[in-house]
Amino acid sequence: MSHSGRSAKSVAELQALGLVEPSPALDAVAEKYAIAVTPAVLDLIDPADPADPIARQFVPDAAELATTPEERADPIGDLAHSPVKGIVHRYPDRVLLKPVHVCPVYCRFCFRREMVGPEGLGTLSTPELDAALAYIAGHEEIWEVILTGGDPMVLSPRRMEAIMRRLGEIEHVRIVRVHSRVPVVEPDRVDAEMVAALKAGGKTVYVAVHANHPKEFSPEARAALRTLADGGVVLVSQSVLLAGVNDDVETLAALMRLFVENRVTPYYLHHPALAPGTGHFRVEIERGQALVAGLRGRISGLCQPIYVLDIPGGHGKADIGRASIAGADGCYTVRDWQGREHSYPPPNGEE
Ligand code: SF4
Repeated sequence: MSHSGRSAKSVAELQALGLVEPSPALDAVAEKYAIAVTPAVLDLIDPADPADPIARQFVPDAAELATTPEERADPIGDLAHSPVKGIVHRYPDRVLLKPVHVCPVYCRFCFRREMVGPEGLGTLSTPELDAALAYIAGHEEIWEVILTGGDPMVLSPRRMEAIMRRLGEIEHVRIVRVHSRVPVVEPDRVDAEMVAALKAGGKTVYVAVHANHPKEFSPEARAALRTLADGGVVLVSQSVLLAGVNDDVETLAALMRLFVENRVTPYYLHHPALAPGTGHFRVEIERGQALVAGLRGRISGLCQPIYVLDIPGGHGKADIGRASIAGADGCYTVRDWQGREHSYPPPNGEE
């Protein structure tokens, strides 16, 4: 696709690229939720394909204005478990550290769409980052720190290195995991300097790479993954099961194989969160279970992700591929990591 080499960040810019028709509804979507599509992603979109699986993930749609009663601004319950700004402490042995709330792209199904973007929760100030790191240092049970956001790989190598060095000074932190879409959507950011920054603290570093469709594995994305893997970063995958993007066995199988071929171990396949205006992406749980079962018989054991639901209200993840969910007809009981049962979706307004 012909573009200026800059990210498209408005309906007008997407219109100029032939990706949307102007409409008041789209303007209303843009008022509510951030828009950004990087040049690397624009290159992957076929504007002639009305069902393009890349465009569906990143180009805004009037369907985002439709919300349902069970949707909520904080679908996975970050705020309920945030002892200090920038930290989410949901499980005893690990925390999320969210230094930034911006991303190079804004996924239309984002589970944190009410928190990310230029109007989102912002970047931690120096005192806020100090307080977040002090919290981690003060809790010896924290074995793993998960950098997320937003997308932490938008940080400059200098700022990434500074955070990694400070985590490196905390003896009880053994693992630092970085959740990122950058290797796929802005692969140029991944270079030797970024790898050195990631490793600056001397901890074991994982990057959980977010990709949802085989088309996302461009030559540049593959090179970025190679740079990370060759540099000693351990790679695991995270994907979201999305209607109209990857909700068929062939696409999921190809996606998981590409992860493995690029040295990314399949990890999570997320059931889409109850984020506002994302109903057009949601797949029935029975269908997700059937798709995951279809993968089991079809592709290598190396290629099998865990199908997980983030239980609304911040109760953590449940493996819904098999055991910990019961029910049918759109109403389930799901068991969290502490054995407590929750209704899914939650009754209106309840957590
Ligand atoms: S990269 Fe992650 S945090 Fe950013 S918009 Fe996409 S899903 Fe949300």
